[in-house]
Amino acid sequence: MSKGIRGKIAMKLVEKSLPARMSADCMGGLPDGLHVVMIGTGAPLPDPGRSQPCVGVIAGGRLFIVDAGEGAASAMNACAIDPGRIDCVILTHFHSDHIGGLPAVAIQRWVSDSSQGRLRVLGPKGVRKVIKGLNRAYKLDSDYRAAHHGETVAPREMAGMTAERFDAGSKLESEVILDEDGVKVTAFVVDHAPVDPALGIRFDYGGRSVVISGDTTYTESLVRASKDADLLICDALAPNLVKLLEDAARDAGKPGRAKIFADVPDYHASPAQAADMAREAGVKNLALTHIIPPLPLKGLEGPFLGDSKERFTGPLWLAADGDIYSLLPDGSEIKRSQV
Ligand SMILES: [Zn+2]
Ligand SMILES: [Zn+2]
Repeated sequence: MSKGIRGKIAMKLVEKSLPARMSADCMGGLPDGLHVVMIGTGAPLPDPGRSQPCVGVIAGGRLFIVDAGEGAASAMNACAIDPGRIDCVILTHFHSDHIGGLPAVAIQRWVSDSSQGRLRVLGPKGVRKVIKGLNRAYKLDSDYRAAHHGETVAPREMAGMTAERFDAGSKLESEVILDEDGVKVTAFVVDHAPVDPALGIRFDYGGRSVVISGDTTYTESLVRASKDADLLICDALAPNLVKLLEDAARDAGKPGRAKIFADVPDYHASPAQAADMAREAGVKNLALTHIIPPLPLKGLEGPFLGDSKERFTGPLWLAADGDIYSLLPDGSEIKRSQV
């Protein structure tokens, strides 16, 4: 086939698919309930199969985002999530893999046709400092875009983000940070030392509940906060696989890299610890996310999970980017689908 014909076919295909892509809306066809979209299930280690941490929670027709790691805006686009529809972003802590994607999400929201004001970012102590710094770093960018597209499309006063601080993690161990129209959101302390504050987030809506662990090792506070939850979404690091990376880094003459691999297992949950916390909390379903290390071969999932399926006998999933978990008010089993 000549290049000319191939080009014409490609143009036709793009033209045909664009209307659907332009109006795609993940939230559009969802029934009333509590829905979780796994936007990014990776971690700081570069992983071609996973974007950095970002979870979308849809409750009562409102869209909440928990964390926005690097690539969050592209990952939202892949999930047909319009940043203009975001109610607020909730940050669990300020590690780069949880905040690195915020500026791009804020820009996409700013110029979105469905935008409803500046992007609100809720977080523990430190959130004002982080957001002020990011707003400052992107001020020139928003000035250029306002000058180019005009104040109607890109109004200067709507650029950037607004920080809203809550007290969980500093003054309180646990705090209801939102309780409106049947949607309750609770932030609670987890153990990601030396990172402080570090929080997990629980959502309750329509009699169903989802807990997002944030980054944590085994901790009683997560067990308490997850009591009888329908779904726990827990960070997971496989120490046996990370040990391979540590040894390989040392053998390659990279002692600094080896030290980092040796340090990280003490502040993330292993799959076995995640399973223990889920079992002790009486959680009904467990999804592992924040997958460390990357799993380039399907066969590595077994060694990654280890004996976690014996420790927690309920449904246990390794989350993938684009997974949707739907919890309906009728109490039925969680419906899993892909965007
Ligand atoms: Zn972290
Ligand atoms: Zn992290």
